[in-house]
This record gives sequence, C-alpha cells and structure tokens, in this order.
Amino acid sequence: MKEYDIIFAGAGCASLSMVYYLLESPLRHSKILLIDPDINRIPSKTWCYWSESPLEIHPSHAIHFWENLKLSSVDQQQHYSFSKLKYFHLESTDFYESIWKKINSHHTIETLASPVIGLEEKENYSLVHCQKGVTVQAKTVFDSRISDQDFPPNVLKQLFAGWVVKTESPLFDSKSLTLMEWNQTFAEDFEFFYILPFSDQSALIEYTTYSKKPISKDILENKIQDYLDQKFPAANFSITFQESGVIPMSTQVGEIKSSKTIYPIGTRAGWTKASTGYTFHKIQLETKRIVSELVQGKSISPYNPPKRFKFYDNILLNIAHKWPNELVLLFKDLFQKTQTDQLFRFLNEETSLWEEIRILSRLRFAIFIKSLLSYEKR
Ligand SMILES: Cc1cc2nc3c(=O)[nH]c(=O)nc-3n(C[C@H](O)[C@H](O)[C@H](O)COP(=O)(O)OP(=O)(O)OC[C@H]3O[C@@H](n4cnc5c(N)ncnc54)[C@H](O)[C@@H]3O)c2cc1C
Repeated sequence: MKEYDIIFAGAGCASLSMVYYLLESPLRHSKILLIDPDINRIPSKTWCYWSESPLEIHPSHAIHFWENLKLSSVDQQQHYSFSKLKYFHLESTDFYESIWKKINSHHTIETLASPVIGLEEKENYSLVHCQKGVTVQAKTVFDSRISDQDFPPNVLKQLFAGWVVKTESPLFDSKSLTLMEWNQTFAEDFEFFYILPFSDQSALIEYTTYSKKPISKDILENKIQDYLDQKFPAANFSITFQESGVIPMSTQVGEIKSSKTIYPIGTRAGWTKASTGYTFHKIQLETKRIVSELVQGKSISPYNPPKRFKFYDNILLNIAHKWPNELVLLFKDLFQKTQTDQLFRFLNEETSLWEEIRILSRLRFAIFIKSLLSYEKR
C-alpha cells in the first residue's frame, strides 16, 4: 500500500490553497497525494473577498478590484466607498492554473482521479479508500469532500447563477460594484442581483436567492435574462462565462470534529460564513494557520472562532427563515449606519465586541428582538 505524509480527499479551493502554502514552507518536500474525481477539471467560479491588499495567493496578473459599491432598490440607490479595504475578484481559472503550475514542478506531489469512498482511522495514520479497491495511507488526511448529504436537513441555501456578459455599447459603471439590487418590493424568498462590472462593456450579472427548496439552474438563469431584458431592452449581449452554485447557510455545517489524523477543511469544516456564504478569505487564513502549525511540529488546533459570530449569524438566519422580506431593510440599515470598512470587517469576523455592540445598537431593534424571542440554532 502506498504511503504519504499528507493526503487530500478533495482537491478544490481549500486543498489547493493548503498545498500552495505547504510548497511555500519548509514542508515543500512532503509526499502529498491529491484525490478528486474531478482532478483535471477547473470549476467555473469567481471568488471575491475584501482586504487592504491582494492576498498572497492571488496571481498578480489576475487582480481586479473595486473601491466603491452600491445597494440599489426600486425607490433608491445608496453609494458607499471603502477607505482602506478593497473588494477583490479572482477567477477560478487563474487560481487553479497558477497553483497547478506550482504543483506540477514538484515531483513529490501525486494525483488520483477517483472519489474517496471512505476514511478509516488507525492508531497513528489513516486509510483512504478509493474506487476500484485502491487504498492508500497517510499520517495526516485533510478532508474537503462536500455534498448535499453533509448539510443538516431543512437548512437554508444560497442558490445562485451568474453570467459574464459582453456588449458592444458602454452600459455599466465600471467604478462601482452592486452588492445587492432589489427590483421588486415583495418576493416570497429573499433575492437580489449582484453585479460586478469589469468594464463599461462587460459585467458579471448574478441572481441569488435564499431558499430551502431546490431551484433549477434554468429558473435561476431566466431571472438573469429577465433582468437584462428589463434593464437594457435595446442591447445585444454575448455570454462569455457562466457560474452557478449552492452554498449552505447554516451555523451547523462543520460540526464534524477533527480526529487524531483526519481534519475537515473548507466548507466541510464550517469555514463558510453562514449568513453570507463568503469562504475564500477564511480558507486562506485557516490553511495558512494549519501549515504554520505543521511546520512548528505542533498538533493542529481546531477551528474555533468566537462563539458570538455564530450567534449573530443565527439571528440573521432566523430572520431569513421566518421573515425574509425584513432582510432588505436590515441590509440597507446595516450599510447606512455603519462605516463601510467597519461593516466588512464585521462580516469577516474581525471586529471587537465593542465595535459589534455599536454596529448592532444602531439598527432597528424590533426585528432583532423578534428574532431573539424565537432564537433557534440554524
Ligand atoms: C460558484 C461559486 C462561487 C463562489 N464565490 C465565492 C466568492 O465570491 N467568495 C467567497 O468567499 N466564496 C465563494 N464561494 C464559496 C466558496 O469559496 C467555494 O465554494 C470554495 O470552492 C469552497 O472550497 P472547498 O475546498 O471547501 O470546496 P470545493 O472547492 O468545492 O472543493 C471540494 C472538492 O471536493 C471534491 N469532492 C467531492 N466529493 C468527493 C469525493 N467523494 N472524493 C474526493 N473528492 C471529492 C470536489 O470535486 C471538489 O473539487 C463560491 C462558491 C461557488 C459554488
């Protein structure tokens, strides 16, 4: 049976990020195996995160950022600017290509195109069972496999579809991204459009809804088509990129604990912010921390963010479950009454308790009290 220092079950964003930091560390010569049924496929994704400067892993030729943003609804448009932070965008193709280039120059990294069927923990190592009777072993296994069965039942999901469209005439305000745009006053579920303008002739238009029920990709894409028809009836568009996804919105994802040799990472480990779905920045912080602990010969400490952030997420998710229409006012309120950088640091879970008390005390209280009175772990 083949033995490795580290095996990754799943080779998506979290695993590739960790491999990147391993290759930048004194552990660069470790014997590593990446196992994924889609090992040779680059998923269609765009990743955004906010930070003062681009993250180390962000390839320098693929940096796009905005310093201004809008919230837009039928009756009003609100404009905001970051002071120190920037909102960065990275395409999965650029991310995967740059990391695979690095991986391919290291002969100690192997790949296997197979699903991982099971993990079996032994005394000081784990067995990783794959298809066709293949079993391999390692002292450390990082597990980022994720499927719908890993989500707790009745969990709210963020469902979205996005198109990058190109047009011949200038239509978009390339200086400002639209974080949320609401085009109707009432909708059964919380829904919004998200627009990233790359130039005045090209933008990502994304439709997002929070729902407990599955919604087909066709329905999500029809919403984008309707949006384009309504907003720009005279324009011709070509679609140059498409993405769609489902992100669990629950504080209970990631309650799978690490064992002696098997560690969940990525969405599986609960690194997705339950109330927003953002994960990329957290993946970078956590994989870097784990590599640093490995380098120091320490045991890997569990992911343990301050509990109060889960509490805030549960309050918001409770509102999303029970009174989704209140969310529009809540988001507008949050942006209007909080300085933009501080709000985004709060969403990144980087604020102090005192800052959070100040942020939350400025918001309309009735909906919070209603949510607190029927508080549930979501
Ligand atoms: C379309 C899309 C856009 C997103 N945009 C953003 C964004 O802008 N900002 C942000 O912060 N977050 C975003 N996210 C959320 C999050 O950053 C991504 O989902 C990210 O890819 C999560 O990384 P991961 O490693 O946990 O999962 P993945 O990247 O999905 O990797 C999991 C891997 O496990 C593999 N796998 C599954 N089952 C098995 C198995 N049985 N055996 C072996 N391998 C298996 C899969 O093939 C996959 O490669 C987005 C998510 C999606 C879907």
